[in-house]
Amino acid sequence: QSVDPALAAWREVDLDAIGRNVRALADIAAPASLMVVIKADAYSHGSVEVARAAVASGADHLGVAVLEEAFELRSAGITAPVLAWLAGPGARYAEAVACDVSLAAYSCAQVEEIARAAASVGGRAQVHLKAETGMWRGGAAAGEWRELVDLAGRLQRRGTVDVVGVWSHLACADEPRSSSNDAQLRLFLDAVEVAGRAGLEPSWRHLANSAATLSRPDMHFDLVRCGLAVYGVDPLAGHGATVGLEQAMTLKGTVTHVKEAPAGAGVSYGHTYRTSTATRLALVPLGYADGIPVAPGTAVRAGWRGHPVPLAGRVCMDQLVVDVGDLPVQPGDEVTLLGPGRDGEHTVRRWSDLTGRSTYELLTGLDRRRVPLAH
Ligand code: PLP
Repeated sequence: QSVDPALAAWREVDLDAIGRNVRALADIAAPASLMVVIKADAYSHGSVEVARAAVASGADHLGVAVLEEAFELRSAGITAPVLAWLAGPGARYAEAVACDVSLAAYSCAQVEEIARAAASVGGRAQVHLKAETGMWRGGAAAGEWRELVDLAGRLQRRGTVDVVGVWSHLACADEPRSSSNDAQLRLFLDAVEVAGRAGLEPSWRHLANSAATLSRPDMHFDLVRCGLAVYGVDPLAGHGATVGLEQAMTLKGTVTHVKEAPAGAGVSYGHTYRTSTATRLALVPLGYADGIPVAPGTAVRAGWRGHPVPLAGRVCMDQLVVDVGDLPVQPGDEVTLLGPGRDGEHTVRRWSDLTGRSTYELLTGLDRRRVPLAH
């Protein structure tokens, strides 16, 4: 990876680590297949690069939210099966059918619109019907589910739709002891059975995200959909370590200034941090406008050449201060803000635990323009 020396801050992504994580997850999922979730620019890791690495490492499917994300993959020449699960009235379904992007359908109105779009391009839409099982986000609840599977069955017989999947999404998979997981599993099994009675035998029944892939083999069905774990962030504290997941994201910034401060200096807004001895303070031009969460006290550590260096005081809008003690840090040096820990910095998981910001928000909240990917 080459880095423009003028960059104040950048993201580095270890695609080999992603490849190893994909292989580990594919092994855990087997005999089920693995869908790698690459929505939101692959959780800020770069969707096209991650898609290529994932497919090369054994991912069978790719999952995105909106159609534009799927089209980006097709434009980049990626031919692996792609499922896009978030589209509404007027979406570019005909283009999706034409470039072989599978579509989620949550309602009768939606599957009819998809079927019309498929007919308009003389194609068959590959559809995954989504059942409501307890997240109350998208998906057809029991009453509409019966109508949806009957309608989809008719459209399948007419040749405009192929029902290739039945699926749902878990609300509390990262709390394995929550009773809602089993309740959702029961409703999912009911939904599959109702679909079967309507003559639908889809190849892909899927329910599990990363947390359920790691903790609930009984929820693997035919396919698991993993995002967070692919990027090496443990969805369940402690599990990732046991399967050897490696964090792929590293966020680095350049030190712009270093200065001496006396003992007792109050640093940054609100003086939440006071130097205990005379020390050196390094300024890094990254702040909450770049997606860095405001960390309390000195809890979060950055890293410099293998040395942990605490954040001093509140993260500001576009800058933060690191207490580097008597380390010989110089303007122009790199500081690692978050990464796998090799430079002494905290991981995404640890940042999340310390700041109360979810691991998903931390990754996807990084301002991708101001903190570009360095490949
Ligand atoms: N499936 C769906 C429908 C999702 O929206 C997501 C992400 O939010 C995932 C799977 C992947 O979840 P995770 O990153 O927890 O593996």
